[in-house]
Amino acid sequence: MSVRASIIGGGPAGLMAAEVLAQAGAQVTVFDAKPSMGRKFLMAGKSGLNLTTDAPLERLLPRFYEAADRLEPMIADFDSKAIQAWAKRLQQPVFTGSSGRVFPEAMKASPLLRAWFARLDALGVRRVTRARWQGWDDAGALVFDPPQEAQFMQPDVTILALGGASWARLGSDGAWANMLKDRDVPVIPFGASNVGVSVDWSTHMQRHFGAPIKAVKWTVNGTHSRGEAVVSAHGLEGGGLYPLARHIDASTSLFVDLIPDMDAAQIAERLSKKRGKASLSNHLRKALRLSSVKIAMLQEWSRPVPQNAVALAALIKNLPVAHAGLRPMDQAISTHGGIAWNALDNGLMLKSMPGVFCAGEMVDWDAPTGGYLLTGCFATGRWAGQAAAQRLGLL
Ligand SMILES: Cc1cc2nc3c(=O)[nH]c(=O)nc-3n(C[C@H](O)[C@H](O)[C@H](O)COP(=O)(O)OP(=O)(O)OC[C@H]3O[C@@H](n4cnc5c(N)ncnc54)[C@H](O)[C@@H]3O)c2cc1C
Repeated sequence: MSVRASIIGGGPAGLMAAEVLAQAGAQVTVFDAKPSMGRKFLMAGKSGLNLTTDAPLERLLPRFYEAADRLEPMIADFDSKAIQAWAKRLQQPVFTGSSGRVFPEAMKASPLLRAWFARLDALGVRRVTRARWQGWDDAGALVFDPPQEAQFMQPDVTILALGGASWARLGSDGAWANMLKDRDVPVIPFGASNVGVSVDWSTHMQRHFGAPIKAVKWTVNGTHSRGEAVVSAHGLEGGGLYPLARHIDASTSLFVDLIPDMDAAQIAERLSKKRGKASLSNHLRKALRLSSVKIAMLQEWSRPVPQNAVALAALIKNLPVAHAGLRPMDQAISTHGGIAWNALDNGLMLKSMPGVFCAGEMVDWDAPTGGYLLTGCFATGRWAGQAAAQRLGLL
């Protein structure tokens, strides 16, 4: 007799769980509230689709912060090499770029997603869109708007893969949290991660909107991150700042070192050289090769800019960033928070709801950009799918 699995959420985690369960022989249906699946995955493809980072387990795991221990068996089972092999089996060749980041050669998500859907179709997975899950009724049956065929409402296993709480227009609105809290499942409040900071720029900065601030070091409460950010109309965005987002609120002091590879004494020595009639901007440009956007930041956040070489060098090494906290959570690349780990057994099944598994960004783990988020989604989706298949006696 065939066994039925209902998967709710057609992002990378849900689709991976569907693939595993269907391969094991379950009759799988994936439901999604949106008119199409994988919308955030497609959005991730706009910046090239960083699928993973090509690194051994011991270098991958620390990037998952406090959840590394719980995720270890899952990522060990489906690590960065396995993800690359999986993409290649979908006829999507990949390449490894700078700092080990892995991308499909197509540099977008749509060919991979199309190939993935074709594989799922071949495995007999039903995909149902425009079906918003609303929780369970008193008899424990799944409830959808609009209502769905009764035979799929009491499946043998259910996998929830509903995403985090950012970019709501792509489907991940976090509304599921209340449905689970109503069932006494502990859910850690969401917070923005991998997001920029708001800055109320003066009009002087307008001509720098879109300019990259390269080779700088950002510091928050003794935690550092090296890497680029871009000046936007609303503040600062970029991979250099994103890892610090989890430490920032409106009252946090954020500093930038504009020349991390030179110490203050070296900078002061260069600034002490004869300036002649050169303006301060020209002097900074010539003596230190500071880009115009870095000079503009100095002028923006220290008025007047000190003329004394030692004081100016100290400022260049530790420029306070006048920010107003993080950009809104809906603009974040990911969110931390979600289903508490103590609610889940080792197979990602809800301890209080046997037969209901959770995967992907809706579980309380987080990671920086660099393909770690998709790595975590693929690995947890696969793990939940395998555990569900084991429960069904298929593996
Ligand atoms: C701009 C941007 C760029 C990114 N780039 C990268 C990158 O290059 N590399 C990387 O590793 N990560 C990247 N990410 C993060 C990555 O896309 C996400 O971590 C990943 O998509 C999360 O997968 P998921 O399956 O857990 O959830 P999602 O992809 O969010 O999917 C959840 C699905 O659940 C559905 N759903 C939600 N609620 C309901 C409901 N009540 N009923 C039915 N369906 C529901 C949604 O419609 C959605 O389709 C990026 C994110 C953004 C926003």
